[in-house]
Amino acid sequence: MMQVFMPLGFLGFVYREMKGSMANIEKMFGLLAVAPTVQDKPKASQLNAHDGSVTFNNVSFRYQAQRPILTGLSFTAKPMQKVALVGASGAGKSTISKLLLRFYDVDSGSVEIDGQDIRDVSQYSLRKAIGVVPQDTVLFNNTILENVRYGRLDATDAEVMAALKIAHLEEFVKTLPDGLATKVGERGLKLSGGEKQRVAIARAVLKRPKIMVFDEATSSLDSRSEQSILAALADVSQRQTTLVIAHRLSTIVDADQILVIGEGQIIEQGDHHSLLERDGAYTKLWRFQQNHSVDPI
Ligand code: ADP
Ligand code: MG
Repeated sequence: MMQVFMPLGFLGFVYREMKGSMANIEKMFGLLAVAPTVQDKPKASQLNAHDGSVTFNNVSFRYQAQRPILTGLSFTAKPMQKVALVGASGAGKSTISKLLLRFYDVDSGSVEIDGQDIRDVSQYSLRKAIGVVPQDTVLFNNTILENVRYGRLDATDAEVMAALKIAHLEEFVKTLPDGLATKVGERGLKLSGGEKQRVAIARAVLKRPKIMVFDEATSSLDSRSEQSILAALADVSQRQTTLVIAHRLSTIVDADQILVIGEGQIIEQGDHHSLLERDGAYTKLWRFQQNHSVDPI
């Protein structure tokens, strides 16, 4: 009997941990304080993210009645494409990522993954298919190893090490008093913004999701670390659909599609070269960033 019950008990533990990591995604977005607005349908199916295509179909959304944020927004990220969202602060870029994770439901239109409306599938299966590196990462009061392992609880040590390497954390971990066993978070070692972002990147890489969302994920890193991490990520990203909310345009010149968001809509769309040829809003942003260093360092 023991042999039967022990694994079941362990599964229960893993399940609770996984449920915990769902709450943690929400915590990372600072959403636990808001009342849950989104609920699973009674017989919600499991998302089958076989290819990882993402479609926003005529999406309109507002947080408050008087203030539309997105109005009739449509785009498709094909499997394994890299799609960049750029635009002024407050344009609605992070809102797009929150709608994809279904932290809120759209007011009209739909969000689909591989042809499945995300309102028809369980939130658990939806969030399992998506890795997120948010702008402000919350670390849990645990070791750095456990913080990375939250990405995928059954990952082997070798996989964790590989993820740390991609996120350029290996050298940093060597300098810590207890290495990977060093406690971090509120009650442990306080990491810098850039170090926390690298933990979040390692966590997302370890998760190996079909769809990856980077929300200004490297904004706290200096340009050099940013470039080297992005180069390492480019390799991983070839096997997943990637939505990148870009801080520095120089990091998304290689994107398959760049969507310029303004006034709740896509005001320009294309790759870097075709957008420069249009000589419109993207070109203005590009020229601005060429002339002004957006890098605080
Ligand atoms: P971006 O990521 O492009 O800077 P956001 O998607 O974060 O923009 O925000 C778009 C707009 O929605 C902003 O005006 C912001 O103030 C507003 N907003 C964001 N989150 C909320 C919220 N939870 N409640 C009300 N308004 C919000
Ligand atoms: Mg944002």
